[in-house]
This record gives sequence, C-alpha cells and structure tokens, in this order.
Amino acid sequence: MQTVPLLIDGEFVASQSTKTIDVTNPANNETIALAPVAEAMEVEKAVAAAKAAFETWRETPVSERARVMMRYQALLKENHDEIAKILSKETGKTFADAKGDVWRGIEVVEQAINMPAMMMGETVENVARGIDTYSYIQPLGVCAGITPFNFPAMIPLWMFPMAIAAGNTFVLKPSEQDPMTPMKLAELFMEAGAPKGVLNVLHGDKSTVDGLLHHQDIKAVSFVGSVPVGQYIYKTATENMKRAQCFAGAKNHSVIMPDANKAQVLNNLVGSSVGAAGQRCMAISVAVFVGSAQEWIEELVPLFKEVKPGLWDDESAAYGPVISPAAKERVLAHIQKGKEQGADCLVDGSECTVAGYENGNWIGPTLFSNVTAEMSIYQEEIFGPVLCCMCVDTLEEAIALVNANPYGNGTSIFTASGAAARKYQHEIEVGQVGINVPIPVPLPFFSFTGWKNSFFGDLHAYGKQAVRFYTETKTITSRWFEDDIPTGPNMTINLR
Ligand code: NAD
Repeated sequence: MQTVPLLIDGEFVASQSTKTIDVTNPANNETIALAPVAEAMEVEKAVAAAKAAFETWRETPVSERARVMMRYQALLKENHDEIAKILSKETGKTFADAKGDVWRGIEVVEQAINMPAMMMGETVENVARGIDTYSYIQPLGVCAGITPFNFPAMIPLWMFPMAIAAGNTFVLKPSEQDPMTPMKLAELFMEAGAPKGVLNVLHGDKSTVDGLLHHQDIKAVSFVGSVPVGQYIYKTATENMKRAQCFAGAKNHSVIMPDANKAQVLNNLVGSSVGAAGQRCMAISVAVFVGSAQEWIEELVPLFKEVKPGLWDDESAAYGPVISPAAKERVLAHIQKGKEQGADCLVDGSECTVAGYENGNWIGPTLFSNVTAEMSIYQEEIFGPVLCCMCVDTLEEAIALVNANPYGNGTSIFTASGAAARKYQHEIEVGQVGINVPIPVPLPFFSFTGWKNSFFGDLHAYGKQAVRFYTETKTITSRWFEDDIPTGPNMTINLR
C-alpha cells in the first residue's frame, strides 16, 4: 500500500509518522493509499525549508518567477488527463468533471503568469516641491494553505501559484481524503523548475494544521473548507497575528422568475444541484420559484429521475459517489429529516446503488418541494445531490429570503427582465451573482468573492485581491537635492 510522501525542501520523503489515514475509492470504499499525519518535527522542517528558500526566491526577478509558472501551465496541460484520472480515482468524480476541476486550476496558473503586471506599484511625482512618492509591492514570506476534499486540484491551485509568483514560499496541507492529486500537482511544479523549498506539502489532520497556525514563521493562512473549521482557523490564525482568508460553506439560491426560459432553467437546476454529487461550494441547493414559475417544479421530476450516478469512467454517469460513508450518512440523515419535517420528497435518492459497486457511497438525485425556511434541509449545508424547492409570490420576497440566509457564497436569477436582474444584483447580499448563469464562479482575473458565513477575512482568492493578500505595500517618499537644500529644522508635519 502506497503511503503518500511529503514534499520538504525539494525532496519527496516518507513521513516518520506511524499515524496514517486511509485514502479510499469512494465507489467501493477500498483503501487505495495511506496519508501520513505529519509529525511536529516535519512541520518544523517544512516551514524552515520555506523560510530559507524565501531568502533567494524573493530576490528572483518577477519575470523569472512568472516563467516557472509558464512552464508549469504547459506541464499541467500536457498532464491534464493523468491528473484528472488520479483525481477521479480518489474523489469518484466523473472524468469530465475531474478535467474541469484541473482546468479551473490551470486558469489560475495563467493568471499567476501575469504577476509582473499585477505587482506594479503606484507613483506620484512632485507630491511636494522636488519630492516624489512611489510604492512597491513586496512578498510576505512563508504562507500556508489548507484545502478541502471537493476540488483537490483547483483549490490548491487557487493558492500556491499566486502566492509563489508574488515572491512568497508556501506550505500546503491538502485534504487527507484525496492527497494524491495535490502531490501530482507538486511533482509537476518541481518539474517546472521551482527551486527546492519554495513549495512544501504536508499531510495530516488538525494536529498538522495547528502546527502551522501557531508557527511564528508563517505570515498568512489561506483556508477553504467547512464553516466551523473556517471559523476556528480564522480565529486561531489572527490570534497568532497572521493574515487569514477563510472560504467556508454555502447554501446557494437560484431565483426563478416566471418570464425565464423554462427549458434553460430546468436543465440548469439539474446540473447545478446534483453535478459532482452536490459537493460544490457553488452548487445550487435551493431553487426559489416566483409566482406562476411554481408550476414548473413538477417538470423537474422526470429530469431528476433520468440522471444517474456511476463510476468515474462510465461516460453515461452524471456524477459520482459522495466522498465517504460518513458523508453519505450525513446526507441521508438530512433527507430523512426533510421528510419528517413535512417537505414533499418528489424524488428520493436515499436507496441507490451501482451494480458491482454496492459498497460505494451512492446517493441518487433528490428533489424536495414545499420546503420552508424553518426546516433543517433549508438551514444546513447538505453537500449532497439534493435540491430544495421553495415558493414565493414576488421578487421582493425572494430577495428577503436570500438575504436572511446566513451564507453568501453564490446565487443566480433566471429572468428575461433586465429590470428584475438589475434589482436582484443590486439588492442581494451575496458575493457572486449569476444572471441566467447558474453557478457564477468568476474567472481568475476577477476574485472569488463569497460573503457572510461563506467567507471570513477581507481579501479574497485569486485575481488582484490575492496579490494584495500575499503582499505588503511599501511606500517611499524621496527627495534628491540639486541646490535648493532647505535650511533650518522643519518643525511641522508638512513636507517642504
Ligand atoms: P473540512 O473543513 O472538513 O476540511 C478542510 C481542511 O481543514 C482539510 O484539509 C482538513 O484536514 C482540515 N481540518 C478539518 N478539521 C480541522 C480542524 N478541526 N482543525 C484544523 N483543520 C481541520 O472541509 P471538507 O469536508 O474537506 O470540504 C467541504 C466543505 O468545504 C464544504 O463545507 C464546502 O462548502 C466548503 N468549500 C467552500 C468553498 C468556498 O470557496 N467557499 C470551496 C470548496 C469547499
């Protein structure tokens, strides 16, 4: 059985730890590898390697750093299928969806190639007579990233390429549930010419993360995962005087106006709610039908029944299993509670198997109607292939419902009315809004801007905000004298 190595100071090394976590194939729950729980000494070594590498990496010209990203982008594209296969095997994602996971990460690497332009400072000449002010953007030092299971390629790639292109060094702690994909990403990064110590990878659990959060040489922490862990990491990192950006759970609503294109709405609702078994932080998990659009709910039933989960290499499979037996149990408990609390279960995916893989974590597409805001299936993130349908009379009521929800990751509105779309985008308290686009994940020249309980921090992932997050601004005020040297002390705060 393969034990996944650590990457420390440019070497792929076996962990000294005797504690391991099983990495399983979610389609049959067989163990396919072991993830070590890195020991405190290994955390120490990884951070020390990153700290030492920072001294030379920060001096490496930004265009050279960008060239490493260019080679990395080319290698990721050459190895796209291979990475996606590893990803499919440890997450159960269909091959097409796994390729999408890798692709959305490659796009961030492409953005990191633009780092020379993104690191430009500002200048103003003659802020006072003969005095100029200009600013430089400088890296912070060692940054850390802690990532979730559901996008093992895209989310590590949200973090380390941007941080490293900006001149920082990095310690990544990927999810212990699918660590092999991030290791392949790390291997290719080394092959692209990254100097040793610039990227280090540790595996493990809370103990490993705590080692990073309390380490005085870590300057900034990026996290993506669930709400309780995100809150814990935000509090602990900031208590330890680090910058933190923590992306957390979600409950994303789609609002459907009666003037929307019905076929587009229905197809988009199926894909955006049950795609990837609902294990996307931007999945649509609540559909809010306004006025006469409520009549369309019944038409979702045959569409939900048509969609089937299956193996990663089965081209007819719409999505794969959920990640673990514990995740399956959690989703089934939500479905059961939904029924008990009085929602109508129009399509029930609780009993679902795939022939030959009866032991897998399968859940069929599940559709609820008559869901109310008091029910737990509305209040809690289910993170499974479940769509909750709700009904309201007006757009104003829909907006009030979404705004009362504690999460604010993404939302969408389907309508033919520019006025309704404009009102929605303006009034909605959610950070990412789609108009006739179900899952509005911004491309990396923008930033990924979740709000409320879906994000703790201020500067978001990728785009310009990531450059701000991973850097300091240094502002210089300079005077070069010719022959007008002022005489006598200046006793005021003003420049002269
Ligand atoms: P998780 O919170 O269980 O784990 C995330 C990471 O934190 C893992 O690396 C894990 O090892 C570590 N961790 C777990 N418990 C910890 C603890 N007590 N202390 C310190 N570290 C700990 O999340 P998950 O189940 O892997 O991912 C699913 C969640 O991630 C969902 O809630 C989903 O909405 C969210 N997510 C959010 C976004 C976003 O951008 N907002 C994107 C993807 C996923």
